[in-house]
Amino acid sequence: MKKVKYLILGAGISGLTFATLKRQEDYLIIEKSNKAGGLCKSFYENGYVWDVAGHFFHFHSEETKKYYIELMNGVEQKNVKKCAKVYYSEKMMDAPFQFNIHQLKTKEFIECLTDLYFAHSGDSAENFEDYVKCKYGNGIANKFLIPYNEKLYACKMNELEKNSMGAFLPKLDFCSLMNYYRMDNNLNGKTYNDFFMYPVNGCMEVINSLMKKLDKEKIKLSEKVIEIDVDKKEVVTDREIYNYEYLISSVSLSTFIECEKGKKENILNWNKVLVLNIGFDRPSIDKNVSWIYFPGSEIFYRVGFYNNIAETQKLSVYVEIGYSKEEEIDIEYAFKQTINDLKKVGIIGDHNVDSWQPYIIDPGYVHITTECTSMINNYMSKMKEKNVYMIGRYARWEYSAMDDSFEQAFKLNKEI
Ligand SMILES: Cc1cc2nc3c(=O)[nH]c(=O)nc-3n(C[C@H](O)[C@H](O)[C@H](O)COP(=O)(O)OP(=O)(O)OC[C@H]3O[C@@H](n4cnc5c(N)ncnc54)[C@H](O)[C@@H]3O)c2cc1C
Repeated sequence: MKKVKYLILGAGISGLTFATLKRQEDYLIIEKSNKAGGLCKSFYENGYVWDVAGHFFHFHSEETKKYYIELMNGVEQKNVKKCAKVYYSEKMMDAPFQFNIHQLKTKEFIECLTDLYFAHSGDSAENFEDYVKCKYGNGIANKFLIPYNEKLYACKMNELEKNSMGAFLPKLDFCSLMNYYRMDNNLNGKTYNDFFMYPVNGCMEVINSLMKKLDKEKIKLSEKVIEIDVDKKEVVTDREIYNYEYLISSVSLSTFIECEKGKKENILNWNKVLVLNIGFDRPSIDKNVSWIYFPGSEIFYRVGFYNNIAETQKLSVYVEIGYSKEEEIDIEYAFKQTINDLKKVGIIGDHNVDSWQPYIIDPGYVHITTECTSMINNYMSKMKEKNVYMIGRYARWEYSAMDDSFEQAFKLNKEI
């Protein structure tokens, strides 16, 4: 049995960041994949640079921004002002939908505006569907917030807790919309990612920078955690048994519970996301848009443009399609339908596909329900009493981003 002070499960951005903060100490990372990075990976194919769907760096605190800038010193990057759109009723409009209802047909605009006027706080709402109807009014909820999120999460919106999207849902009331119009549609600071940074060689550059700070011998790749005994402080992998003082998990909570309890926690639910990275033989038609949201009948819920963000020549997109966790994914069908829908919405014309690549994110978006929130809080505090800590979006079972991974790693570093 090997002994280690800080045993870290998962070599994604969360696990690696925490490890760099403890690099002077006794640590070890266990990673089941043969490559570090988790979802923060890039692929280099035929001249295209692709991530697991575009992974961009936005910051809600100066501390994480400063950390990122220092970490990435010398790496070529783009500073991007987001240009996001919504494809609604066969037309492109600016995103967020709720701030741009004046771009709808007059009748629909008046419907959304009057519903918003009579909307209220949503404090008493019982679920996400109720919440958005109360807070934004039926117009905005039924035209965009509900159908879009049902495609993304692949479930009914009344199954999710009212705050399940947290800061990722741009907040709005009638007064703030009037102010937005008065300020000449200036959205600065209204959404979490108005500006973001992106390394021209993909998000993987961040992982490369983190890895440079670490001892490669202390990152055990292609080694899978299969059992965890929190009383004995032991982790069993398919190669070794480890005894730890502190256990830091960034693997998904569903995996952790399965390893710890020997059974699945069946109140946890989530979606899977099929990502199709596709490179075409000619430039894009719209040369500015960062990504587009699709609440309608198209197979995808979002299409993003690597070429516009990284300023490269040929059209290169990531397409995201939501599935329930039980659903079988027919990749060939999804690809064919994607090409048809990209043509239909005008993203491609005579373009030919140069290269493409599928990637399944599982879990993609966790389903936050009232029932699972209390179970998770209890479970995580019980684990903490046994020196077990969770960091990152999937380990904490939340909707969060990579700057949260940094923040959670900093906080935990101070704590243990
Ligand atoms: C479609 C999509 C787009 C996104 N876009 C952005 C974006 O633009 N910007 C942003 O900031 N965030 C984005 N995110 C969120 C971002 O991906 C996550 O916040 C971040 O990658 C979480 O990193 P992590 O290290 O916590 O988890 P992960 O990256 O999931 O890493 C966990 C690691 O644990 C390993 N592991 C799992 N099971 C085991 C096991 N049994 N044994 C050993 N190892 C195991 C995995 O292989 C993996 O390497 C996006 C998420 C999705 C789904």
